[in-house]
Amino acid sequence: MIIVMQAGASRQEIEHVMDRIKDLGYDPHPIHGVERTVIGAIGDERGKLLLEQLVSVEGVENVIPILKPFKLASREMRSEPTVIEVSNVQIGNGGFALIAGPCSVESEKQIIEAARAVKKSGANMLRGGAFKPRTSPYSFQGLEKEGLELLAKARQETGLPIVTEILSPENVELVAEYADVMQVGARNMQNFALLKKLGKVKCPILLKRGMMCTIKETLMSAEYILSSGNPSVILCERGIRSFEDSMRNTLDLSAVALIQQWSHLPIIVDPTHGTGVKSLIAPMCKAAIAAGADGVMVEVHPSPETALSDGFQALVPDEFQELAEAIRPYLELEGKTL
Ligand code: PEP
Ligand code: MN
Repeated sequence: MIIVMQAGASRQEIEHVMDRIKDLGYDPHPIHGVERTVIGAIGDERGKLLLEQLVSVEGVENVIPILKPFKLASREMRSEPTVIEVSNVQIGNGGFALIAGPCSVESEKQIIEAARAVKKSGANMLRGGAFKPRTSPYSFQGLEKEGLELLAKARQETGLPIVTEILSPENVELVAEYADVMQVGARNMQNFALLKKLGKVKCPILLKRGMMCTIKETLMSAEYILSSGNPSVILCERGIRSFEDSMRNTLDLSAVALIQQWSHLPIIVDPTHGTGVKSLIAPMCKAAIAAGADGVMVEVHPSPETALSDGFQALVPDEFQELAEAIRPYLELEGKTL
C-alpha cells in the first residue's frame, strides 16, 4: 500500500505514520518528493485492510494499493525516474552510461590497454569480470581477487568507475571493496540469497535479466534488492533464449520500453551478449537508445583473438571508437547526455 501524505505534512506527522506502519508489522519506505512525501508500506499483502485505517491519521491524504506485484520497483510507488549516480556518472532521466571493456580481466596489460582505449572513445564506465560464470568448468574462471586489484589499477589510471560481476554471496564484501557497480549476471538473476545480501550493501547493482526470465520476474528480482534496503538498482536487458538460433540470444528491446512504463528504475542494454554478433552491436545500440535505454554495455578487447572468454563477440578499440561516434546523434535526438 502507498500512504500519500498531504502536501506540507510536517516531519512529525510523517514520522508518526512511519511508526504506525511499523506497529502494524510493515516496513515503511518513504520517498520525499518535491511536493509531498509518499510512504510505501511493504509486507504481507493479507493485512492490507489494517493499513487502510491510516487514512484517518493527521497529515495523511490517501491510502492506495499498489497493484503490481513488484511494489518498490513500480511507477505506482514512484512516478519520477530514479537516477543512479556512480562517481560523476548519472544513469537515468537523461543520464546515459556507456559501459565498455573486456568480458574478463586477464592481465594488467590487457585491462589497462582496454581501459585507456574505451576512455579515449568516450566510455564513462569500465567493465571486466574477475569472477566469471562459465558454462564449462574447464573454461577460464577469472582472476578473482587479482582481477579486482587490476580493475582498481585501471580505475586509478583512467578515472573510470568499474562494473564487475558478483557470483556468490560469500564474495559480496570482497567485491564491494573494489567495485563501483556490482553486476548480477543472467545466470544469477534468481539467486535470492545473493539478491538479499546485495540489498544490504551501499554499492549500486546492475541486475541482468535472466535468459529464461520474464520481465515481471526481472522486476521481482529487483524487488528483492530494494526491499532488503538497497535503492540503487540498474536493470539490464541482455537477451533471452528463444527458438531463434541465428544469434546467441534474442535481444528483447520491447522490454526496455515496457520496463520504463512499469518501473522508475533505469535500464540499460547489453547488445554484445544479446546478439553475440559483432555486426549487430551498433544497430542494436541505436535501437536501444530509441527504445529509451539509459545506457549500453559493450565488450571491447585489445586483442580478441587471444581473449580467454567471449573473444568472438568483442569489438577492438577502433571498432568501439566508431560505435561511440555513431551513437552520438541518436543520444542527442533522445536528449541523453554521456
Ligand atoms: C558478462 O557480462 O560477461 C556476462 C557473463 O553476462 P550475462 O550474465 O548476461 O551472460
Ligand atoms: Mn562476456
